[in-house]
Parts: sequence; C-alpha cells; structure tokens
Amino acid sequence: MPIRFRFLLLLGCAATAFAAPPPAPKLAVVISVDQLRGDYLQRFGPYFGEGGFRRLTAGGLVFEDCHYAHALTQTAPGHATILTGAYPMTHGVIANDWLDRGLWEQVNNVEDRTAPLVGLTPADATAALVAAKAGRSPRVLRADTVGDQLKMRYGAKAKVFAASNKDRSAILLGGRLADAAYWDENGVMVTSRYYREQAPAWVAAFNAERRVHASFGKVWERLLAPAVYDAVQGPDDAPGEWAESGFTRTFPKKVTGGRDAVGPAFFSAFDNSPFSTEFLGEFVQRAIVEEKLGRNGATDLLCVSFSQVDSVGHNYGPDSHEVMDSMLRLDRVLAAIFDRLDREVGLANCVIVLTADHGVAPLPERVNAGRADGPGGRFKVAELDAAGRKALDAAFGAPEAPEYWFTRDNNGFHLRLPVLAAKKLNRAEVATVLRNAVATLPYVALAYTRDQIEAASPDGPSVLAAVRRSYFPERDRDVVMVYQPYFQTRANTGTSHGTPYVYDTHVPQVWFGAGVPAGVRKDRVGVEDIAPTLSALLGLSAPAQAQGLRRF
Ligand SMILES: [Zn+2]
Repeated sequence: MPIRFRFLLLLGCAATAFAAPPPAPKLAVVISVDQLRGDYLQRFGPYFGEGGFRRLTAGGLVFEDCHYAHALTQTAPGHATILTGAYPMTHGVIANDWLDRGLWEQVNNVEDRTAPLVGLTPADATAALVAAKAGRSPRVLRADTVGDQLKMRYGAKAKVFAASNKDRSAILLGGRLADAAYWDENGVMVTSRYYREQAPAWVAAFNAERRVHASFGKVWERLLAPAVYDAVQGPDDAPGEWAESGFTRTFPKKVTGGRDAVGPAFFSAFDNSPFSTEFLGEFVQRAIVEEKLGRNGATDLLCVSFSQVDSVGHNYGPDSHEVMDSMLRLDRVLAAIFDRLDREVGLANCVIVLTADHGVAPLPERVNAGRADGPGGRFKVAELDAAGRKALDAAFGAPEAPEYWFTRDNNGFHLRLPVLAAKKLNRAEVATVLRNAVATLPYVALAYTRDQIEAASPDGPSVLAAVRRSYFPERDRDVVMVYQPYFQTRANTGTSHGTPYVYDTHVPQVWFGAGVPAGVRKDRVGVEDIAPTLSALLGLSAPAQAQGLRRF
C-alpha cells in the first residue's frame, strides 16, 4: 500500500474515533406520579390505551425492579432524590415536614418566607392561604439537579420548568436554578418570587380561564363498567376506606366538597378527583407550546408530577376502584401530552422518564381479611409519646412543668436539650432509655438512637443502612423508629407510606425516546440512578453529589 494512502486511512480511523457524539435530545421530560407503586403498571396495564403508559413501556426501556434506598419514603425526599441522584442524607430533604431544631417549630420542606407566592389575584390570596403558605422555594435542597446541570452548561438557552398539583413536587424536581416551578393553589397555578416577580402572560391567561372553579359540581364516575373494577380491585366499598371532601366511599362522586359554592372544601375535593390530573395535563400542554420547549436551541427540561393518585391512594387504598380509575384517567392525560410533544417537538427528539416518589401500603383491613395471622393494624402515636415519657420519668425524674422531654417528629423524637442540661444528663444515655422504651411496643419493629445511626454504614440492604441514607444529622432526630409492616398511624381509616418496606420503596422506572434502547431489565436498580443516567443521555456530567449509577 502506498505510504500516502496508508496515511489517509489512518486519518480516516482517527476521524471515526473522535466523531462527534449524536446530538443531545432537544427536550427531556421527567414524569413523577405521586404514589405510583411498582406493581401498578402491570396491574392496570390491560386497561390502558395505546398512547399513554403503554407507549412508554412498549417502545422504551422498563426497569421492573427499581427501589428507593432510603427509609422515610415520603413525597419530598422522593422528589428530591429523582433528579439529584442523591440520598436524603446528602440532599437534606429528609421528610415532608420536620422540626427545625433552632426554632423548635415544624417547618415545611419548601417553606421560605422570603419567597412569597406569585400569580394569585387578590381574591384568590385568602388570609388562610397566605398564612399557610407564606413562601416557597428549593432553599432546603443541598444538592444540584439535572436541571441545574443544564443551566450550568447552557445558561439561559436551556429552559427548565416544573409543574405539579403540589408545591414540593414541582420545586424539588426543578432544582435550584429552574426558570420556574408551578403548582396549584386553590385552582390557580402559582410560582414564587424565588423564580420570578410576576407570572408570565400565558400563565395569567390560563388562570383567568378559571378551569378549576368551572368544575364545581362535576361528577366523577368510572370510565369502564363497574364489573371490570370489581374483577381487578375487589368491591368498591371496602373496610378501612376513608371518604372525605364530601365524597362517599363509593361511586359516583360529586365534586363540591359537600358545599353550595367554591371554597376550601371544594378545592380539597377537586384535588381528590381525577379532574385535577386533567387540569395539570392542560397546563403542561400549554407550557410546551408557550415556552417553546425543545425549540430553544439547547436541551430543555420539563418536570411534571401528578399528585391525585396519592390523594385517593391514602383515602381508599391501592386496591380501590378510585385508584384504578385515577390511573386510567391519568393514562389518557399522558397520551394527550405525548401527542402534544410529538406535534410540537417530535417524540424522536425527546427523552421521557417515568417514575414515582414512593409506593403505598395496603389498607390493614385488606391485608388481614385474607390472612388468619392478621399482621396489619392501626395504632395511636400518642401511645408512643406516653411510653417514652413514662420510661424517662422513671429513669431520670419528670421535668419541671411546663418543660417536657421531647417533641415527636414523623417516626422519631427530638430530645429537649435544655431539659437534659438542667438535669445534667447525657444526651446519648437519655436517647438510649427512650429508644429501649419504644422498641418494646408491639408495632415498633426497630428503633435506633442518633449515635447508632450516625455510626452506621449507608451501604447495603439492611434497614439500618436505609435509615442512615434517610438521616441528615443537623435536621434529624435523637431516636428514629421503624414500624412493623402493614401498621398505620392513621387511627381508623386510610393508609400511607414512609417505611423501608417493598410496598413503599418499589416504583416504576421507565425510559423512552432518543438514545434509549428498548427492552425490559430485571436487575435491581435505584431511583438515584435516574439522574446520572439522564445526565449521560443529555451529554452532561451527573449532578455533583449524585450517588446513583448510570444504568445504560
Ligand atoms: Zn408522595
């Protein structure tokens, strides 16, 4: 071979080796469905249409065994993990609410009095709403998100938006550099001054349509014949269901809140109805068009979190007609959003991720109905306080009124340090007495002191490691409990999540679109793997504190 030709061949090889990577997707869409448990897509799959969930699962990559690795599986920690790729021990969002140890007051995870709500008309900004929601921002979040990575890479050219029915879900997905997070307050899609001074004209116009208010009196009936729901879920009326917001335990449900006019009870009923999912879907479609998502010259990110499945899951349980119908209606809303994306951006230019913030426990009554050993139950958290107080009084003498030993916070206790100082008591010793007292209660599976948790390794499958991954020392408690499986702190009805058990940790992880190989993966993965994997698909470094792994 002539020398010259060999040289050209070498050049050709070099050019191939350093060829530019495929262009990054124009738009990433991250969808979280609040309380979408890991088994729901299979359970309700036969009743979905072609364009919604099935479009993702049939044409994309499904991770069947995806879990949260942290113990306190609540909405805020889950949403914070999805796009930071970090555990609560790192991102700092340990729960939905926690006791601020400096103020000795419960604070909300996205509370920020320096960032008042934006977008409410004077009529919408009721005194109760303003008092309850003084301000909102992601300031508690101690880790960057994929959206933050996009902003650092492309600046203003990359648009990052988040929308949800709930404040925390939008704010924590969006991250610290998002252009805006929007959520529903009393039928108005609001944001906060953290992001901008005024709502954009298109958001104001959307709100002026008063879509929520116009839903007063609408009736929620099942989409399919009742027998279909009976076959999949059992009877519509079941022991342990909780009918609130003017609803009964059975269909149909009239969305009025049990009142004659629009007001707080109606808004609560609306949030419990699938019409809130449809409302958010309309807002998201509007955002895609008005913000020209995927058409701004770099890669944009749209985060969406649907909250209504969580509301009905808490009230009626995962085996209810309400949850099934909410899923079927969400499926149609997703289909409309995907059609919109296809028209505006082209689905081939998008990458879509679907996941959830946590699962949910079955109603204890439902668990026990099928089993002679009756493992489920309900208990009153006041019993925890009484047992702890009694043990501490016996060991160290009761504190002088009006002082008290501790404040309970979620599934744990903060010790009152001034009381310990006055009695010259050692914090670790007092925590151990409190731990030992609650650990003997029949519905407490495990209890740990601060010292035990801080000394524990965050690696591995043990419950203590999961508790460690949930633990952020400066915001966290002196004693943390894990309840027995299938036990609820809700007194008579309803269910919840927040444990390290599989029904709470198992969630879907489905990928679709540009750069995604279709298929089904059965290996166990984590929600913390989403951020590093998505970053790689977008040609970005993973967020700095990401602890998950790139999965393809
Ligand atoms: Zn949630």
